[in-house]
Amino acid sequence: LRSAKRIVVKIGTRIVTAEGAGLNSEFLDSLARQVARLQERDCKVLIVTSGAVHLGRRALGIRKRAEDISLRQAAAAVGQPELMRNYAEAFSAHGVLTAQILMTQDDMQDRHRYVHLSNTLETLLQHHVVPVINENDSVSMEGVTFVENDLLAALIAAKARADALIFLSDQDGLFTGNPRTNPDA
Ligand code: GLU
Repeated sequence: LRSAKRIVVKIGTRIVTAEGAGLNSEFLDSLARQVARLQERDCKVLIVTSGAVHLGRRALGIRKRAEDISLRQAAAAVGQPELMRNYAEAFSAHGVLTAQILMTQDDMQDRHRYVHLSNTLETLLQHHVVPVINENDSVSMEGVTFVENDLLAALIAAKARADALIFLSDQDGLFTGNPRTNPDA
């Protein structure tokens, strides 16, 4: 990690939000401070963040997780600008510029789209901008969503040739199987 020059950090909803409440500003401030320090060492950081659906649900007053796809997509549309505004504010307090990138699975699978995305990411990194990436939940079609950003983060890390991929999550670690169905995993 010390020698890593390019790092992807994946941030889960439970990390970026405060115990089911709104965004955790203390966490975002600490993250921004650490990214600013890494940039001083010429280390490039890309962030993959969740949290849009959670924030949107809160704003719309939807409590339950089970819901139809259009409601989830609407919640993401409400929550994403709020998520991004908080990232932008937290990072700008440390002199770091952020950029929003929203992607669907198609963007990864279509070579032309992927090449454009890749060029955009490289240009942002050259300009010391931190790409803040999320799935474009509001337009992703059922069945072709990333479902969770872990996969999106892994694809970004591979395609951006990152030296390290860090998951900030409330999970206990890497399991050999599904710990919900296999207690020995
Ligand atoms: N893209 C979803 C969001 O921003 C999160 C998907 C996930 O839970 O990883 O809320």
